[in-house]
Amino acid sequence: MRAVVFDNYGTFPSLAEVPRPRPGPGEVLLRVAGAGACHSDVSVYRHFEEGQPGAQKPPFVLGHENAGWVEELGQGVTHVDVGGAYLVYGPVGCGHCRKCARGQDTYCENVATMPYLAVGLGRNGGMADYMVAPAHHLVPLGDADPVLAAPLADAGLTPYHAVKQALPHLAGGGRHALVIGLGGLGQIAVQILTALTGATVIATDTKPDARARAERHGARTVAPGEHQAEEIRELTGGRGVDAAFDFVGVTPTISTAAATMAQGSRLTVVGIAGGTHEWSFFTSPYESYVTSTYWGTVEDLWEVVDMFRAGQIAPEVERYGMDDALEAYRKLEAGELSGRAVVVP
Ligand code: NAD
Ligand code: ZN
Ligand code: ZN
Repeated sequence: MRAVVFDNYGTFPSLAEVPRPRPGPGEVLLRVAGAGACHSDVSVYRHFEEGQPGAQKPPFVLGHENAGWVEELGQGVTHVDVGGAYLVYGPVGCGHCRKCARGQDTYCENVATMPYLAVGLGRNGGMADYMVAPAHHLVPLGDADPVLAAPLADAGLTPYHAVKQALPHLAGGGRHALVIGLGGLGQIAVQILTALTGATVIATDTKPDARARAERHGARTVAPGEHQAEEIRELTGGRGVDAAFDFVGVTPTISTAAATMAQGSRLTVVGIAGGTHEWSFFTSPYESYVTSTYWGTVEDLWEVVDMFRAGQIAPEVERYGMDDALEAYRKLEAGELSGRAVVVP
């Protein structure tokens, strides 16, 4: 079968012919319907080096945002419909620790001894004709379109988890949320904030078309610039934002977000660009939090699918055939995508 393979650190992926996988005990084989291209893949093949925290050892098939139809059940698998459409929860932990037991494989307590983090991150992912996944990581899609649903596995799940953790800060009238970076994750973050909270959503991106799309999802937008933080604070009536989400994560975006925070607010850095944040007693708002989140839980993913099926989340998808999969990554790196690129084998 054909697959998009991450061959070596610092190397752009290649399109290769690889053997079709077989499901092991407790696993299923899926015929891939769609596999989203996430900006984290760019970090995986461009920036990580061997031994660095977060680095995943090549070679493996990329694609950690997958949906497909179940083709074959591995030994011992029951209650999964052969032929049914499913979304794949990507993180794969040990399966036995207290975090894995609650469907939070992202924070597996045995991660140090695991040879991979997730499908498409250390073990073979879904940017291929077929993929293998743990059966208990499947979320049924019913009659929903698996190509449109594929981005939910990360671009939906990650902002959902980040927003859910911040909900206490957004409960009550007159609240404000800030979203920085309106790409695959950020656009869905705006939709989730609009659906789950009554907060005014303020959003920003360097690209005017990304800001225009966020406005269609109900956000008020601000263009980048020297006085951006002041402009955002003005939109809150001077009080600051109650929850900020940074889907870029460079030092300047973290600084902008930090400069807009209200007392008792929460800034969640989701972008993995490596930015840093300076804290001090008198310059940071009292009882405010700066934190990070990583992906989400299996339960979160079921809820994301519920929101998708209820029409509360609609990922904007650009379809690419397997022949054009590498072009999708080129455009993702160049910032030329408007919407999530999904490879449809
Ligand atoms: P994307 O390329 O689809 O979107 C990024 C957006 O940010 C683009 O619209 C771009 O124009 C905008 N942008 C870039 N620099 C900016 C700046 N300085 N100011 C304002 N806007 C700027 O990326 P994505 O797939 O949505 O991923 C976003 C980030 O989240 C990446 O760093 C990715 O690695 C990370 N990520 C983290 C997790 C997690 O669990 N923490 C999960 C998935 C992705
Ligand atoms: Zn991702
Ligand atoms: Zn575990």
